[in-house]
Amino acid sequence: MARRSLPQADTDFPSWVRTLGAMKAQGVVPIAWCTVCHVQQPVDLDKLIAIKSVGFSLINRRPACSLTTGCLGRVRFMYPAHGCLRALETEPCTDWRIERDWRARQAMAAAIRQVEEEREEKRKRDRR
Ligand SMILES: [Zn+2]
Repeated sequence: MARRSLPQADTDFPSWVRTLGAMKAQGVVPIAWCTVCHVQQPVDLDKLIAIKSVGFSLINRRPACSLTTGCLGRVRFMYPAHGCLRALETEPCTDWRIERDWRARQAMAAAIRQVEEEREEKRKRDRR
């Protein structure tokens, strides 16, 4: 089965998800989801509108993860439609993002390894 392709341009998305104001008016609650720590959280539209404005779009936005302290990942935005979540991303944007997410995961794994090694070193020192 062919993978369902993503929209090619911002204008291919339904008008009710193209801006924060449109989502608010439609009662749509977008979901922020981090591809590294896998935390998923509804977006506080009122708060975001106060910061960014009603005309701001979440399409192709990938802010640094603030869902988990110390996470090096980037957040993806999704919107609910027909009982499932759809990415607020266009096709041309996905490839380099997959690459960047992979790098973030590698960096996180390296950081965890380092902490474990340091802990092991400390344990060895304490034993002496
Ligand atoms: Zn994260």
